[in-house]
Amino acid sequence: MANKWDERKKAQEDEYFVKKERELLAKLKAKEEAETKESLQKTCHMRCPKCGEPLKARSFQKIEIDQCTGCNGIWLDAGELEAVAGKDESSWLGKFWQKNG
Ligand SMILES: [Zn+2]
Repeated sequence: MANKWDERKKAQEDEYFVKKERELLAKLKAKEEAETKESLQKTCHMRCPKCGEPLKARSFQKIEIDQCTGCNGIWLDAGELEAVAGKDESSWLGKFWQKNG
């Protein structure tokens, strides 16, 4: 009888700690995410017009471009498309630019 009660109590305690641990993990995760977002915002000057996530500067063929951290969309500033297209005239982008430019 006493054993059964102890077992039940133990199970309840375990459940309590598992729940507490989960809450703690969720809090840590939220904190981490907030910090990541904050640090991204500090380095970013722009947000994606499509999904609102911050853009992160990265280099593509030695040209600095902005890539969305949410949808991975790439945004080019004025002159950057020409710079990218001009690098390789045989690329689809180069062809596109020559055809439309
Ligand atoms: Zn986006």
